[in-house]
Amino acid sequence: MLFEGISGLYINWGKSFLYPINDVPHMNLLASILGGEVGSLPTLYLGMPLGANSKSIEIWDTVIEKCEKKLARWKTQYLSRGGRLTLINTVLDALPTYMMSLFPIPAGVIKRLDRIRRNFLWHGDKEKKGYHLVKWSSVICAKKWGGLGIKNLKIQSTALMMKWLWKFTKENHLLWGRVIKAKYEQEDSWMTKEVNTPYWVSLWRSIRSLWSELKTQSRIKVANGNKTRFWKDNWHEVGIMELVFLDIFNLVLHQQNTIAEMRTCDGWSLNFRRHFNDWEVQRVADFLNKLNQFPGVQAGEDHLWWQGNSKGIFKVNAAYKIMNQSNQQIANWPWKQIWRIKVPHKVSIFVWLLAKEATLTVDNLMSRGMTLYSRCFLCKETAETDNHLFLHCPFTAHLWRIILNLKGIAWTMPGKITEALSSWEGTCSHAKDRSSGGGRIFIKGVQKKKLIT
Ligand SMILES: [Zn+2]
Repeated sequence: MLFEGISGLYINWGKSFLYPINDVPHMNLLASILGGEVGSLPTLYLGMPLGANSKSIEIWDTVIEKCEKKLARWKTQYLSRGGRLTLINTVLDALPTYMMSLFPIPAGVIKRLDRIRRNFLWHGDKEKKGYHLVKWSSVICAKKWGGLGIKNLKIQSTALMMKWLWKFTKENHLLWGRVIKAKYEQEDSWMTKEVNTPYWVSLWRSIRSLWSELKTQSRIKVANGNKTRFWKDNWHEVGIMELVFLDIFNLVLHQQNTIAEMRTCDGWSLNFRRHFNDWEVQRVADFLNKLNQFPGVQAGEDHLWWQGNSKGIFKVNAAYKIMNQSNQQIANWPWKQIWRIKVPHKVSIFVWLLAKEATLTVDNLMSRGMTLYSRCFLCKETAETDNHLFLHCPFTAHLWRIILNLKGIAWTMPGKITEALSSWEGTCSHAKDRSSGGGRIFIKGVQKKKLIT
């Protein structure tokens, strides 16, 4: 009634439930007075599980069911691999995001969702068996790094969890921040203490465990210097003072002081334990030189500055891209050109498979354990590999000659498909200019050959 009086909103008790937390006496009586019913936890609130164990796999069942329902509705037999990839990137990848924005995704759930997405990509139909042509860890890389841009759920989950840490550093005066602060206590001006107890704290514990990662991606912009510890925080462009000038750090008193405590109107106030030895003087001079670059404190609060973008504000997408780079080995090859050219998506994917040398040639089938005689399907002269079939086979080479002659291009075919593609890098940006449209000719050539095979 108080709520109705203040907000002007009417509570529909007929549709409402009362949930007791621990033992609440006379629950049924209360419910009958108000007109609602007594419910029990766990339940769903705004689509999120309430009162459930955040690490349990069951809370993810609805997400997995949703994915499977979507798949059942799509007419997979009519979709090309390009169409399926688009559906994965736009629909399937987005389904778990809402849940992941609060709950860390368990490894078992990632495995199940990966299996669903992987099977859908490679054979569409669930029952149909087929080959997975490229290993999944490559597929879930960004297109720029040689993958298909399918979301890496573990990294996506980490980025979404880090968002909470970021919010905590900015919003710890709000109610949720105050609750967390009271429960776990502050470690410094930015974060709570690390959570070590194993019981009932798993959610904040998993979020808090990402702090060191976020901290390395961020710097502190000093204003009044009250929140920033001189030696321990990353505020100077040289890095964390304690790490860069460890020898001097060991010489000073008051190692926990903030910048505000150490900065006076005359400059820095540093108290050393003893006098310097001769060999230490130069080092101290270097240190003071670096310190002189600091413009001084000013009005306003110190704040965290995320280094992942120019505005200094943490963004989940940008953080995902940064963390998704680290496991790349084949970064140098210009993968992006495959996706830049305006051709049907399924053609781009086929060229991607060629660049990975992963189409189902006899050689690749044999590497998957099939007993076959490796001879080219067209010329019957040599082993059937991607590079032979699509570049050097006499039949294919003849086709290339016709196309190149028609366009008046003198060209020596390199040994590998990747070399041919990368030597055409840049030409694809002129795809509309027919006289120099090498990239475009190549794609068309590939299409023709695909039909022959
Ligand atoms: Zn051949």
